[in-house]
Amino acid sequence: MQNPRKRKQPPKQLKPQSEPKSSKLTKEQQEPYPTHLRPTPGDCRAIRDSLLAHHGFPPEFAKYRRGRPSLRPDDDDDKSINSLEKSVASLDSEEVEESVLDGLVKMVLSQNTTEVNSLRAFSNLKSAFPSWEDVLAAEPKSVENSIRCGGLAPRKTSCIMNLLSCLQERKGKLCLEYLRNLSVDEVKAELSLFKGIGPKTVACVLMFNLQHDDFPVDTHVFEIAKAIGWVPGEADRNKTYVHLNHRIPDELKFDLNCLLYTHGKLCQRCTKKGSNHKKKELNDGSCPLLTYCNFTVAAADK
Ligand SMILES: [Zn+2]
Repeated sequence: MQNPRKRKQPPKQLKPQSEPKSSKLTKEQQEPYPTHLRPTPGDCRAIRDSLLAHHGFPPEFAKYRRGRPSLRPDDDDDKSINSLEKSVASLDSEEVEESVLDGLVKMVLSQNTTEVNSLRAFSNLKSAFPSWEDVLAAEPKSVENSIRCGGLAPRKTSCIMNLLSCLQERKGKLCLEYLRNLSVDEVKAELSLFKGIGPKTVACVLMFNLQHDDFPVDTHVFEIAKAIGWVPGEADRNKTYVHLNHRIPDELKFDLNCLLYTHGKLCQRCTKKGSNHKKKELNDGSCPLLTYCNFTVAAADK
């Protein structure tokens, strides 16, 4: 209950993004697999509950979950969520709310590296340049040096500098808080104006910083979604993103995403690191998703 975020959104903007307005849907937003009827809401709940029992709720996402009052049930009939609430509430809640711009830059720095390295790069950047104005005024080379430990430093530097100068030009200040008052589609349109900000980064900002019900598909989530048959085998990441956002109930998206992401990082067995053949051999109960993988292979082969 701590750290309530000040949401200024009018109720109108709380509508789900998949609201039928087919004439306005772009090709990217159309359901790519309308006859692929998985996951069902039941599938989503079952996987959430298995992963929650297996890993607990990942503590690094707790502060973002506390900012989402809509995820707190008023009734007591959902036992796993009530225990999740207790575990999240007991975690450290001292942290100050992250600005949208900080969140976006963190996402940029997290590309193609480990979480430890990307967080270190972010913290080095912040200590070298206390404000975003300082970053914008700096020599690109010194920005690059400060984030080197996160990998792809030249590319990430140019993405961040470009983001800051575009923002300064368009809005007259280095602040993205105005995105909090926009709808999902408006946020996507705004962020797509910045070079180098891809759909996964946008989806992460929507979910973590703007408290929208969006379901980012990173490489872990993508591999698991294919392994458990939530998308057809030939699906690519963008189609998987659209399909899962259509299929997964809004109220389950945040928890399920954090849990699948965490599982994908920790588990070698249900992502492509292990072949189907190995999966069966390794089914020693250490991965709660293996039963779903085997079921899926059998069902998909018929
Ligand atoms: Zn697994």
